[in-house]
Amino acid sequence: MAKKSRKVTIYGAGMSGLIAAINLRRDGFQVTVKEKEPTYGGSSIYNPSTHVTPLDLKATSKYIGIDISSVFHEVSACPSYFGKTKVLLPVHEVYAVERGNRETSLDTLLFNECKEIGVDFEFDSPLTQEEVQNLPPDSIIACGLTPSAYEMLGIPYLKWFGWISRGEIRLNSYAWLWWGKCVTEYGYFSSVNNYYFDLLFSIKPVSKSCLDEYISFMAHAEGIEHKDWQYVSGAVPIASPENPRLFWKNAILCGTISGAQDPFMWFGISGALITGKIAALALTDKEKAEREFRRFTRWFSQAFWFKNKIWYRFVRPNIQQLERGIRLIGPKRVEKLAHLTETGKIPARMAIPGFSHLSCH
Ligand SMILES: Cc1cc2nc3c(=O)[nH]c(=O)nc-3n(C[C@H](O)[C@H](O)[C@H](O)COP(=O)(O)OP(=O)(O)OC[C@H]3O[C@@H](n4cnc5c(N)ncnc54)[C@H](O)[C@@H]3O)c2cc1C
Repeated sequence: MAKKSRKVTIYGAGMSGLIAAINLRRDGFQVTVKEKEPTYGGSSIYNPSTHVTPLDLKATSKYIGIDISSVFHEVSACPSYFGKTKVLLPVHEVYAVERGNRETSLDTLLFNECKEIGVDFEFDSPLTQEEVQNLPPDSIIACGLTPSAYEMLGIPYLKWFGWISRGEIRLNSYAWLWWGKCVTEYGYFSSVNNYYFDLLFSIKPVSKSCLDEYISFMAHAEGIEHKDWQYVSGAVPIASPENPRLFWKNAILCGTISGAQDPFMWFGISGALITGKIAALALTDKEKAEREFRRFTRWFSQAFWFKNKIWYRFVRPNIQQLERGIRLIGPKRVEKLAHLTETGKIPARMAIPGFSHLSCH
């Protein structure tokens, strides 16, 4: 069948779905994006929000065929707090980006491009259990981190819990990490375009007293308080080392639901950008797309193994000892070591342990 008459349906109007849509439409396909929410830009539970990620911006823009540089803003600083000990992490090629449907977001940039080139949208149109059994071949599923989508497809997922706060702030391109003892993951703040997003998350339920501890840390260390906090939970494809998969039955997966997420820090932006492009490629060259997908996710199982067998068992429960160790070595020396990533002496892939970003190729 000629490409021009080939119709493709993409489920999910978040970042990876929109990237797949742009690439396919440019290639002559008739593209319809179906989204369960009333608008584009990811789940309204979390978005608008701000995210932080290491990224090779130039190489990623080139790979996906879309110049995304106007919406990624290099972070000016990202202190990492181990108890009361502060270590300034290197921020070379670490970016803040806005998600959601505000004018300044990544999703708006992608959505505007979709509209300009003639991608069709159907909002309030969720992919359902019934529909998923009878999908036309080569439909693309880009449903992100929504637990019901994982259940519908039978993809193993890990449930996480957390407190979020978001809103306007007079602070830009700034971030921090907090490795408190009461969570298995971390607390982090990011801000860009005078908007902030703050998340304290864990693979176990997070108590109010844990949130109070985080709030007290924020006030003392960073002088920042937020009015509102909301308790949320969600899914991540980090339940098995086999999570990464490009194909599901006759359909193509992309974004976080394809397992294109780093199992250590849970960075998902880079994976969603790249696999949006790979999903589009899968319609014309399945084998090449599969090769590309494997190339980018080749470190997933090692990072998964490290997180589960070493980090959760021996390092994370003893975070106070890690703090003591940092104090012993001296935070300045630790910072010097961390800055080796900028000189190339430590491989750049260490920045996103489980999803290889483009600097590593
Ligand atoms: C709270 C939070 C904070 C995060 N912070 C960071 C960070 O700082 N850095 C980082 O690198 N990554 C971060 N991530 C991960 C990152 O957000 C994701 O990996 C990325 O958004 C995935 O993009 P996507 O295209 O796969 O999904 P999304 O952009 O989430 O889009 C998925 C879309 O599918 C839609 N959808 C869901 N179910 C259906 C259905 N049944 N039918 C139709 N549509 C459906 C959703 O409504 C949504 O619009 C964070 C994630 C969360 C949840």
